[in-house]
Amino acid sequence: PHLVNRIAAGEVVERPASALKELIENSIDAGATRVAVALALGGVGRIEVADDGCGMAPEDIALALERHCTSKLPDEAIESVVTLGFRGEALPSIASVARVTIESRPAGRDGWSRVIDNGDVLRDGPAAVPPGTRIVVEDLFARVPARRKFLRSPRSEYAACLDIVRRLAMARPDIAFTLEHDGRRVLTVPGGEERPGRVAGLTDRALAENSVAIDWVRDTVSLGGVASLPTFNRGIADHQYLFVNGRPVRDRLLMGAIRGAYAEMLPRDRHAVVALFLDLPPSEVDVNVHPAKTEVRFRDPALIRGMIVSGLRRALDEAGH
Ligand code: ADP
Ligand code: MG
Repeated sequence: PHLVNRIAAGEVVERPASALKELIENSIDAGATRVAVALALGGVGRIEVADDGCGMAPEDIALALERHCTSKLPDEAIESVVTLGFRGEALPSIASVARVTIESRPAGRDGWSRVIDNGDVLRDGPAAVPPGTRIVVEDLFARVPARRKFLRSPRSEYAACLDIVRRLAMARPDIAFTLEHDGRRVLTVPGGEERPGRVAGLTDRALAENSVAIDWVRDTVSLGGVASLPTFNRGIADHQYLFVNGRPVRDRLLMGAIRGAYAEMLPRDRHAVVALFLDLPPSEVDVNVHPAKTEVRFRDPALIRGMIVSGLRRALDEAGH
């Protein structure tokens, strides 16, 4: 009976980290000021995201679980049919391939909880819960062997989840985030931070005295962020973070541009710590290639590459490097 949902789920949710990304983005969209994430077994056992956002009334919870139901208006950046097709699909997809508990309460209303097990509603009723929303996803793909067999070890699924939390937390220094894994607190950042402090808090505290701020505007493109000095030799390969119009992306072109900017300044075996925020008109970029992936396509890739290389070089130059 739930076959169609299960097939579609694979499109949006391919591993714990992709489910986690959808849940945290929903918390951010709900206006949360605090997001608490707890994982067990790299998220394969359990993913829990609790927020203090606007919450959902009982009827909203039912709607949220219906395919293509979204309470959100498309923003101006959304131009592709592909993206619209995936709108309102995350929660129903996840609930079709896991056991999902949704607890929610809008301010000034009563709370509600619903439990869905691989598409079947097990419980639906009033519950004494704090304002906001808490969603628990257990045993992802337990009943979908074809997908479960593509999951990697809890250790590498955990690494992917941690990466998602870091990237989303870096994009929103105003929001407080915590992450627990198998009962241990592994990440804490307070709300109300500025970007440099948040980047240092999520990568390396020593970055505060060993980095330069990037802040450059050229025509309609702006480049901001933080980059470690070439003398800072504690960087690890993972600590290059890129954001296009506020969204975390992975892009070989941009990563290559960062390496290019540091070429000859940094020993071969060393890595820069870089968090770059690129903002440009939506017509110049398509970030919506696929919801579960973080690819971007630039209209003028050479221009973007050039801007990153010169933006980084300029900032490092001014700092005497
Ligand atoms: P989308 O985010 O594209 O609308 P989702 O399937 O991710 O689709 O979520 C469906 C709906 O559920 C959202 O539009 C929103 O109304 C509601 N929702 C989901 N998570 C939360 C949350 N943490 N707080 C408040 N509302 C939420
Ligand atoms: Mg969503």
